[in-house]
Amino acid sequence: MSLFNQLIELQNLLIQNYCSYCGKIDEIICDSCIKSLLKSPKVGFINNVPVYCLTENVEIFKQLIIEHKDGGYHKLSIPFAKMLVQGLKTLSPKKQINVLNVPTAANTIKKRGLDPVAIMTKNACIQAGKRFMYTPEFLINAKSRIDQAQLNFEERRLNLQEAFNSPEKSSKNFVIVDDVITTGSSMSSSILAMQERGNHVKACLVLALT
Ligand SMILES: [Zn+2]
Repeated sequence: MSLFNQLIELQNLLIQNYCSYCGKIDEIICDSCIKSLLKSPKVGFINNVPVYCLTENVEIFKQLIIEHKDGGYHKLSIPFAKMLVQGLKTLSPKKQINVLNVPTAANTIKKRGLDPVAIMTKNACIQAGKRFMYTPEFLINAKSRIDQAQLNFEERRLNLQEAFNSPEKSSKNFVIVDDVITTGSSMSSSILAMQERGNHVKACLVLALT
């Protein structure tokens, strides 16, 4: 597909008012399709924590995630947050739960001018209701690391080793959110940092896998 056609398709997806899976007049992905996606087999486990992915292998959707993060399509945080809301409510139907995202490196935030993943996660918590507490202070960057994009698998792993730190322990369970899992190394480092502090990570929730 040419770049021009890809852009047209992205724009169509942004303004569409039907579900990409079932065709119902609704969001990009409707509530009931998100529920069934979360019921289908888990993507896998990282350090014994189940990882749930909110989309199936939709190439165009991955494009949207990149546009959201690096292309300046900040409006996408609205549908993305709505998807996360459904995921969070399904993962914790009754209990209070702490929610945080995989921290973005400080220099990446500087480059982008804002932190789209944090904004999306925070908005999802606000929309999901009082029992979902956005608690980014429980997982922070432990050292300055370089931007992941140009690194290969091994370089990413080394870059992320002990990249995060969980400064406090909470009695509540946590859900860790990210927009996309590529190698899984940043999610894995996040879980490890939380576990080392004695924080219980109930699940990870991501929009897509690449
Ligand atoms: Zn649907």
